[in-house]
Amino acid sequence: MRLTLLAFGLLTLATAAPAQDLDAARRLAQQAIIVDTHIDAPGALRKRWADLGEEQPDREFDYAKARRGGLDVAFMSIYTSAAQDADGSAWQVAHQMLDSVEALAQRHPDRFALLTSPKDVERLRQGGRVLLAMGMENGAPLGDDIANVQRFYDRGVRYITLAHSAANRLADSSYAAEKPWNGLSPFGKQVVAEMNRLGMMVDVSHLADASAWEAIRLSKAPVIASHSAFRHFTPGFERNISDALALAIAKTGGVVQIPFGTAFISPEAAADMQARYRARQAFNQHNANLRAQGLPVLDEAAFERDWAPQHPPRTSTLAQVLDQIDYGVKLLGIDHVGIGSDFDGVDGELADGLRSVADYPNLVAGLQARGYSEADIRKLLGGNLLRVWAAVEAAADPARASSGQ
Ligand SMILES: [Zn+2]
Repeated sequence: MRLTLLAFGLLTLATAAPAQDLDAARRLAQQAIIVDTHIDAPGALRKRWADLGEEQPDREFDYAKARRGGLDVAFMSIYTSAAQDADGSAWQVAHQMLDSVEALAQRHPDRFALLTSPKDVERLRQGGRVLLAMGMENGAPLGDDIANVQRFYDRGVRYITLAHSAANRLADSSYAAEKPWNGLSPFGKQVVAEMNRLGMMVDVSHLADASAWEAIRLSKAPVIASHSAFRHFTPGFERNISDALALAIAKTGGVVQIPFGTAFISPEAAADMQARYRARQAFNQHNANLRAQGLPVLDEAAFERDWAPQHPPRTSTLAQVLDQIDYGVKLLGIDHVGIGSDFDGVDGELADGLRSVADYPNLVAGLQARGYSEADIRKLLGGNLLRVWAAVEAAADPARASSGQ
């Protein structure tokens, strides 16, 4: 009898502890201000509209999940592709995405509010609102008109990732072999200065190293990497941030925001992605040669048919995301690391345990298990990003800052 009771007691203890931990993590996730700098909900909305004020099973961001996860500030990614840059539609697509985010806030003023300044977070989140901030991924919508920076600022955009998957009018991309600017273009340099003047965060995620270095050197305000993992774990993968660049970002007072996408945090997946880009370039070159000789080109779908069966999707874990955070904190200090998930942007190829905005408590529990204090966890979840945003705002031209509000 005693033995049975003892065994039962041990069993209860062993199973109850994790549940208590998760309760504590849930509480902290609700209390802390969570800022996620990269959520691709506008892209998903553009493909197929869904009312994100209601629970949507096929979306990684919606109001119900955000509330369960404790998310307070969701940077909506105003993403345009290199193809949209090339065909001249990027400006229009960016405005449509901004329209869609505004529509969410207008349909559900009790659930969402647009956020354009870190000063408004405490006031607007009262009553459980999820705050929607705008981050532009790819400077393509600016075209070649510097006045467009202010036009997008006036619509709420508060960071710009200068380039995406190919060189654009501003900067070179880490993904593309062609790097025409070897830094920033003359227009890119003007854009950085204009962003500083207005109080927009300069984002170096996706950039080629030389472009990132130049942006960091020229920016008069702290710089961010809105969703970049550490290249330390994925050698040779320029899309992830090098230690030297990360240290330079920290020196500006900025922050590196860790994504949850498998392609960035799994070395095997990152290797696949690099191989895919090389294969894709070879395929395109082959077609260009055929075209030049007046021969019929290979079907675009043929590339996918060959590639996909040989490269099944990889998986990744919460522990790998925690490893990224540990590494960043050791390298840069607790004040220069945050989170930029890439939810709704990577076709569900995410770390196990971090599959939607409902899952931040799992991240918090993991950080607690690794010994982070509550104060440190609050910095990682959003405190650091809000500090950087406030510093960028404070460095802006005061005349502009006051007239824009
Ligand atoms: Zn991205």
